[in-house]
Amino acid sequence: MTNKTKSATVFSKFANAFRCPHCKCSFKDVDLKSLKCSNNHTFDFAKQGYINLMTHSTKSHYDKRLYGVIP
Ligand SMILES: [Zn+2]
Repeated sequence: MTNKTKSATVFSKFANAFRCPHCKCSFKDVDLKSLKCSNNHTFDFAKQGYINLMTHSTKSHYDKRLYGVIP
């Protein structure tokens, strides 16, 4: 099981706790690759096992170090 699959499995149990950052709807579809909200905004799981719910990429100098990956 990859980190991505593990995260998706865990996330699917707690998906109700999250809201789409675009429309504030709850997430209705959670599969092993992505989340989709009621308005079809889709967020993909990264292979490292996290999901990025930010609505735009940041240019701040510390974000790469924070996540430990370069997107
Ligand atoms: Zn949405």
